[in-house]
Amino acid sequence: MKKALHEQKEVFIYESQGKVHIWNHFAEEILECANKGLKNESAGSIFEDIIYKNLSEWLKRYLQEGVTDAFLDDLNSAIHEIRYSKYILPIDLLPSETGFPKNAYSAQYDESTEPEALAADDFSKLLTSGKLKRLKRCQLEGCEKFFLGPPQARWCSKTCGSKHRVAKKRKRDSSR
Ligand SMILES: [Zn+2]
Repeated sequence: MKKALHEQKEVFIYESQGKVHIWNHFAEEILECANKGLKNESAGSIFEDIIYKNLSEWLKRYLQEGVTDAFLDDLNSAIHEIRYSKYILPIDLLPSETGFPKNAYSAQYDESTEPEALAADDFSKLLTSGKLKRLKRCQLEGCEKFFLGPPQARWCSKTCGSKHRVAKKRKRDSSR
């Protein structure tokens, strides 16, 4: 296990093939996967493709309806099949205000874990991290990628911003 968990309120661990890993993907990485799912870009395996596609569906739905009770019901049933077990982490790994070790929960991933459940599990981590406060979708037609940005951000990149301006100008010119 890596020792880089300070400032992390929640620690996610997962076990796969008998090994324990710290789940420390950045929100940006997950969004990148979701964007691949959005564009139907193949991730290399059908299993991953399903994860990516499902991630993008969760994000879309989150942007459309927000965290409603129905949304949480569906999310909870999607993650239900993933089993978690409890871990008590040493203080040097997860510092605590009280000076006593804290809880962490470890997901048990195995061959029977469905990609849909993995996607929901990943999405749920994004959701509880609070990062989705900054979730946006690029407003350039044909891009529409997910990204994290300030409230006024409209495009996922400078490229998309200038493409938008060019398209707008062209529209204006042709309507003259
Ligand atoms: Zn874009």
